[in-house]
Amino acid sequence: MRRSALLLPLLTATSLSSIGLAHAQDDAAGEVSPLATVVTIGMLSDLVEQVGGDCVAVNTMMGPGIDPHLYQASARDVHDLDEAELILYSGFSLEGQLGKVFERFSRIKPTAAVSEQAITDDQVIHTQDAYGVDPHLWMDAALWAQNIPTIAALLSEQRPDCAAAIDARAEAYQASLLALDEWIQASIDSIPADQRILLTAHDAFGYYGRAYGIEVAGIQGLSTATETGVADIRRMADKVVAQGVPAMFVESTINPRTVQAVIDAAADQGHRIAIGGQLYSDAMGDENTPEGTYIGMLKSNTEQIVAALGGHTVAWPDRLADWTERVAQATQMPSEP
Ligand code: ZN
Repeated sequence: MRRSALLLPLLTATSLSSIGLAHAQDDAAGEVSPLATVVTIGMLSDLVEQVGGDCVAVNTMMGPGIDPHLYQASARDVHDLDEAELILYSGFSLEGQLGKVFERFSRIKPTAAVSEQAITDDQVIHTQDAYGVDPHLWMDAALWAQNIPTIAALLSEQRPDCAAAIDARAEAYQASLLALDEWIQASIDSIPADQRILLTAHDAFGYYGRAYGIEVAGIQGLSTATETGVADIRRMADKVVAQGVPAMFVESTINPRTVQAVIDAAADQGHRIAIGGQLYSDAMGDENTPEGTYIGMLKSNTEQIVAALGGHTVAWPDRLADWTERVAQATQMPSEP
């Protein structure tokens, strides 16, 4: 027993020194390898990729359709986290099951809750539940863009040679997200005022509603970890009927049966309600599709919302032409030999 206890620190010291040696060799050769970065959710990975460019190699833990509230680290994740030079997560209890994992890794390598660093207490939506803060910050494009300078600083700290390029990319992407923010606002403004109501399966759209002026209600609470009860279904059906809501929305990460239950309950009261299409709430769409990017995710959501609620989208901003081009290239990739 004593022997193995003594061996462990020795092994750790050896592996640490070999990592240090590998980096020193990179520097000596004048070539800096991309910063190996593990990021939890796609919406954050997109920012890190746009800001980091070639200076960063991003590994996203949670892909399309994955619910971050319930996600637990796999053996593969632990391996990836072991290999990473930098670990970034959003925080505010979004990645609820991973707290202990990040705590452990934070003792041995740079690990940061980006949104908790970048977004101030007076900007978050405070809640009455156990979480205390609504973690779905990416739903407000201007608010999510606030993560960009924090990401730029974290990446530059690890790759000082890249700092100038990172700052330039950060500034450009921030301008893109502000153009997106204005486009969403103008599009939502086109919905008749009495129909600006967004009903979804869980409370992921609080920041969207606050930013763009649309009333939001979820059947389930902020986290999908809580159970939906008969009372929640009835409460929502009563609201739908009382306000004459024309459409409800399903989410890519959530089973649509609770939304269907509300529609059925409203039908029992003689009110017909349409399904307004699928929204991306807690994960982006498939890779190599427009919705597989952060900008495309919010674009798709906004298109679905305005179409179902009687509005129209405004012209796509010129500032986002580079996004359109990037997506066009990416979506063609799979068909090439
Ligand atoms: Zn959520």
